[in-house]
Amino acid sequence: MINIGSQKTQTAIPAAVTTAFGQSRQRAGRAGSFSTPWLRIAKEDQSLYPKLSLSIGLAILCAAVLAAMILSRAWNDFAEARQNHYDIQYFRQVLDTANVISAERGPANDVMSAPSEVALKRLADFRVRSDNALASLAATPEVPILLHDHRIPRELLDAVAESLAAARVKVDHAATVQGGEAKLRAMQDAIEAMFSVSDHFRVVTTWRANELIGHDSGLSEPALIGQMLADLREYGGRIASEVIAPIASRQRIPLENIIDARRDQGRIHQIWDMLRGQTVLNAMPDLARNQAAIDRLFFGVGMDMVDTIIKQGKDSSDYPITAVELTRSFVPTMKSVEDYRTAFLDKTVSRVAAERDAALRLLVIVSLATAIVLTVLIGVLLSVRRDVFRPLLQAHEEVIGLAEDRPPVARRDAGGASEMTRLFDAIDVLQDRMRERASLTSELRLQAETDGLTGALNRRTLDYIAQNGGDGLSTGDALALIMVDIDHFKSINDTHGHLAGDRVLIETARLLKREAPIDCVVARFGGEEFALLLSRADLNQAGHLAETIRTKLQNHRFTLSDGQQIAITASFGVACGQRGPRDWRHLVERADKALYRAKSDGRNRVSTAPSIVARRAVGKDGQRRRA
Ligand code: GH3
Ligand code: MG
Ligand code: MG
Repeated sequence: MINIGSQKTQTAIPAAVTTAFGQSRQRAGRAGSFSTPWLRIAKEDQSLYPKLSLSIGLAILCAAVLAAMILSRAWNDFAEARQNHYDIQYFRQVLDTANVISAERGPANDVMSAPSEVALKRLADFRVRSDNALASLAATPEVPILLHDHRIPRELLDAVAESLAAARVKVDHAATVQGGEAKLRAMQDAIEAMFSVSDHFRVVTTWRANELIGHDSGLSEPALIGQMLADLREYGGRIASEVIAPIASRQRIPLENIIDARRDQGRIHQIWDMLRGQTVLNAMPDLARNQAAIDRLFFGVGMDMVDTIIKQGKDSSDYPITAVELTRSFVPTMKSVEDYRTAFLDKTVSRVAAERDAALRLLVIVSLATAIVLTVLIGVLLSVRRDVFRPLLQAHEEVIGLAEDRPPVARRDAGGASEMTRLFDAIDVLQDRMRERASLTSELRLQAETDGLTGALNRRTLDYIAQNGGDGLSTGDALALIMVDIDHFKSINDTHGHLAGDRVLIETARLLKREAPIDCVVARFGGEEFALLLSRADLNQAGHLAETIRTKLQNHRFTLSDGQQIAITASFGVACGQRGPRDWRHLVERADKALYRAKSDGRNRVSTAPSIVARRAVGKDGQRRRA
C-alpha cells in the first residue's frame, strides 16, 4: 500500500506494479519465502544447533569413555597391587604357621629326652602357639572391601589338626617311657608323627603357594622362594630329630635314620643351591648378611654337629652330648634360616606394599587429572556453545530476518566475546542501513509513482496499472476511464497567476480523490487533465460518477491566496473497455474523443463514448476527432 494523500485516497498498488521498481521487486519476492538458493542453504542449516549439541555430547561422551578406560586401568593396577599385598601377607601367615609347627618339635624332643617341669611348661607354651596359629588360619579371615580371599580348604587344616593331636599323644607317651630300646621306638614313633604333621601342613603351604602362582600376579617367585625357605628349615630340623631319639635312649643310630638324615641333607643342599641362584634374592643385597649367617651357622655349625654325631652314633651309643644339649646347640643354628626367611618376606611384603602405594598414588593422580581434563573440556565446550555458537545462531537468525524483511527480534543471547559484540554491532548497522534504504526506496517509489504537485498517481503509473493490472484484476477485466479537463484553465493562470493555477490543480485532485470510490485510481494525466480509472464499472456507472464529480466541482469554491474565491467547471469524457496493454491506448483515445465532444458541446458536461458494439453500428462516419 502506498499512501497517496488522504486516507480515502490510499490506493492499492498491486505487487505487479512494484515490480517496475527494481529493488522493491527483490524484497517483495523474498518476503516470507525461502525461494533464493542462499536462503535454501540457510533453511538446511536450521539443524545446526541440535547437531552441535549432539557433537558436544559425543565429545564429552568420548572423553568420558577415554577417561573411564584410563581410570579403570589405573584402578585395576591398584586393585591388583592391593590384592597382592593382602595375598602375600596371608601367605606369610601360612609360612609362619609352618614354622611354628616345626618349632614345636624342639620342646617335644626335650620333653621326650628329659621330661622336666621347665621342659613340659615350654612344650605347653609351644603347643598353645601352634594351636593359636592353626586356629587363626582356620578362622574366617578378615577380607578388606573389594578384595577376594583364597581360603584354605577346611579339610586340609582339619588333617593337620588331627595329625598334630595324634603326634602329641605319641610325644606324651614317649616322655613316660624309660630308657632302652622301648624308649628309642616310642621316641622314633613320636618324631615320625611330628614329621607327619609337617607333611600335612606342607599340603596347606603348597596349596596356598599354588594359589599365588595360579593367579600369575607377580607373586610366583616369592611364593616358591618362601616355600623353599620353609623346606630348608623343616628338613634342617628333621636331620636333628633323626639323631635325637638314639641319643636320648642311648642307642646306636638305626640305619634307616642315617639314610633319612643323609637324604634330608641332600635335599637341604639342593634347596640351598637353588635358592642361591634366585635372581630375586640376589637382587636384595641386604640379605647377603643372612645368607652368610646360614653358611656359617646352619651349614658350618649345625650340619657339622649332626654329621659328627651320625658318624659316632653309627658304631657306638656313647654320645658326647645329651639330647637336650643337642637341641640347645642345634636350634639356634636354624634361627639363621628363619631370620633369612623373615628378612626375605619382610622385604617382599614391603615391596608389594610400596607397589600398592605407588598404584594408589597413580590412581589418585590419574583421577584428579581426568577430573580436571573432563571439567576443562566440558567447560570449554559449554562456553564455546554459549559464547560462540549460540550467538552465531542468533546472528544467523537476525541476518535471515534482515534478508526476509522480518521485524528485528529481541536479542536473546549475544555472548560475552568481543568478536560477537562486534558482529552484533555490525548487524545493528546493517539493520539501520536496511531501514534507511527501505525508507529511501519508499520515498523514491512515491516520487516515481506520483505527481509531485497534486500527489495523485502520475501518468506512468496509470499506464502501468491499466495495462498490467495489479489491483486484483487481470488482463481482460472490464475497465472504465473518466478523463477530466478543467475548462478554460489557461484563463485562471492568466488572470490569477500560475501559482493560483497550481493551487486549483492541487485542490481539484484532492476533490477528485475524495469523491472517487476507494478502489478508483486517480491520476494526473497531464497539465490540467485528470484520469479516473474504475474497475468493474460499466458506462452508466462511470457516467454517473463523472456527473456527480462534475456537479461537485462546479459547486466548489477555490479560495486563492489573496482570499479571493473562484469557481471552475470541467468537461468529462467517459469510455469503457478492458484492461490490458492492447486495449489501453484505444480506451484512452475513446475517452479523449468523448472529452473533446464535451468541450465542443459547450464544456461543463459529461460525454460518454459509445460502447464498442454501438460504435461499430454507427460506423466510421459517426466518429469525430478532437481538434
Ligand atoms: P479548454 O477549456 O479548452 O480546456 O481550455 P484551457 O485553457 O483549459 O486549455 P489549454 O490547453 O488551452 O490550456 C491549458 C493550460 O494549462 C495551459 C498551461 O499553461 C496550463 N498548465 C498546464 N500545466 C500547468 C501546471 O502545472 N500549473 C499551472 N498553473 N498551469 C498549467
Ligand atoms: Mg487541456
Ligand atoms: Mg482545459
